[in-house]
Amino acid sequence: MSGDPSVSAAESLRVSVLSEALPYIQRFTGRRIVVKYGGAAMVRQDLREAVFRDLTLLACVGVQPVVVHGGGPEINQWLSRLQIEPQFREGLRVTDTDTMDVVEMVLVARVNKQIVNGLNQVGGRAVGLSGSDGDLVRARTWGDGTHGLVGDVAAVNPDVLAPLLNNGYIPVISSVAPNVDGRMHNINADTVAGELAAALQAEKLILLTDTPGILRQKEDPASLIRQLTLSEARELIATDVVQGGMTPKTRCCIRALAQGVAAAHILDGRIPHSLLLEVFTDAGIGTMVVAGPSGLRA
Ligand code: ADP
Ligand code: MG
Repeated sequence: MSGDPSVSAAESLRVSVLSEALPYIQRFTGRRIVVKYGGAAMVRQDLREAVFRDLTLLACVGVQPVVVHGGGPEINQWLSRLQIEPQFREGLRVTDTDTMDVVEMVLVARVNKQIVNGLNQVGGRAVGLSGSDGDLVRARTWGDGTHGLVGDVAAVNPDVLAPLLNNGYIPVISSVAPNVDGRMHNINADTVAGELAAALQAEKLILLTDTPGILRQKEDPASLIRQLTLSEARELIATDVVQGGMTPKTRCCIRALAQGVAAAHILDGRIPHSLLLEVFTDAGIGTMVVAGPSGLRA
């Protein structure tokens, strides 16, 4: 701290916080962090801007963030505006050709560009891509095909990302991809983020969502599980502690870690700057899944 009376306490604090970030910056610079962007952080204007600033800050200090996004509420809004009736089979939405056209238009043309523009607005340099671009993601029809054009990730080829990342661009990727016949499929964005993190050998996979992390009792935020190993995460799926939308999240954390990603995190995107809290503090926030038993975090 400076003893100079012309330096205010606020200024001293800002400088000391920045200085304390040095070891984290040194540790993560040049490393890749894949972020699944979704939930309230994608809908609320104040949170959106905080996420864009955090991603831009990471890129400015040499970390290489890669953003993967889903649709948020906009797909349903456009389906109803275009009077396309949702179809369900066994409780799951069937993605027919008309629905897939809307999904692709909304994700690639609107949601993707809103994120790219938002990042550019705060001084980031973002580039939008879908699974088609540079043959980045190849889809395979999910299950027996009765749910239509819903896909799983068949293959990832991240070659197109290296020149972008090495030049400070932030790739922003929509979770749609063609199958081997060129038919577009809608893929869960968590799944795409996990497979991309594995293909990039990312340092971290971060899934932003609307819960504090994985909860032992779904409705009780105090039951947050701070750290998990792969086998504990598998156990939570097997015992139905994890259900619904948390299942693909937990599964993709497991798959990413099994393929060499160092750590996977499920964070509360409703907390402003949750990304920076995770990357630049020791304790971190949310749920961290690691490959095996290691140093517990506070
Ligand atoms: P996103 O839009 O971010 O993909 P989802 O709604 O698909 O979010 O998945 C998160 C949801 O998973 C939570 O809102 C919650 O309802 C559900 N969930 C099921 N099991 C759990 C659990 N054990 N802990 C936290 N959330 C859970
Ligand atoms: Mg989901």
